[in-house]
Amino acid sequence: TEEFLRYTESISMIGELSAGIAHEIRNPLTSIRGFVQLLFSHAVKGSEFHQIVISEIDRINSIIGEMLLLGKEAPSSLADYNLVQLLRQAVVLLNAQAHMTNIEILMHTSLVGLTLKGSANKLKQVFINVLKNAIEASPDGAEINVELDRTENMAIIRISDNGRGIPAEYIDQIGSPFFTTKSGGHGLGVMISRKIIHNHKGTFLFKANQPSGTIVEITLPIM
Ligand code: ADP
Ligand code: MG
Repeated sequence: TEEFLRYTESISMIGELSAGIAHEIRNPLTSIRGFVQLLFSHAVKGSEFHQIVISEIDRINSIIGEMLLLGKEAPSSLADYNLVQLLRQAVVLLNAQAHMTNIEILMHTSLVGLTLKGSANKLKQVFINVLKNAIEASPDGAEINVELDRTENMAIIRISDNGRGIPAEYIDQIGSPFFTTKSGGHGLGVMISRKIIHNHKGTFLFKANQPSGTIVEITLPIM
């Protein structure tokens, strides 16, 4: 427990620190982007380089967006929300992206509604991160399944894919800051998602799917 507390403390310190730094970086970056755009709009050639510079600036910007999220604490915005509705919204949102590669996200639950307390926006971010990873791991034409169940005092969400799965040698590193196996990845999604779920006193777990792929199992207390 002591080790766990130290871990949680260092995570929240990373959060605060990175949010502070992120904020300081974002302002100059915004003006750099504006001036680069202006500069290249007067240049005769170099539009190809222009695109690279702009898209790299945008990449830094989106990393900073995630760092800012990391520093924000959950308890400030606790409210009642409907978990069934929230999951359905995330599924609709990500299906648009999934359909581009013929992937279909299906939602399964017998629950009509399930009211929990927490930050709906943050939790939506978690489901979006997890679904995005599932899409990115899946081959064309695959299915991703979202299941929602409950026990007396706990909601259980399982997001399963039949994608490439997580090799055993990586499993311990997933969720460490900046750990990614993707060429365009940030390696922040799992870390942030885990932090948000832990702030809600829930659990976040990777499991191997059968015959292949990954299951992300999330539990949230019903309070
Ligand atoms: P990113 O998506 O930017 O790489 P994440 O923190 O979201 O960063 O994920 C970290 C790593 O975890 C990914 O690069 C990938 O290797 C692994 N991962 C996460 N979800 C899945 C999944 N559903 N299937 C396979 N690998 C996954
Ligand atoms: Mg990701």
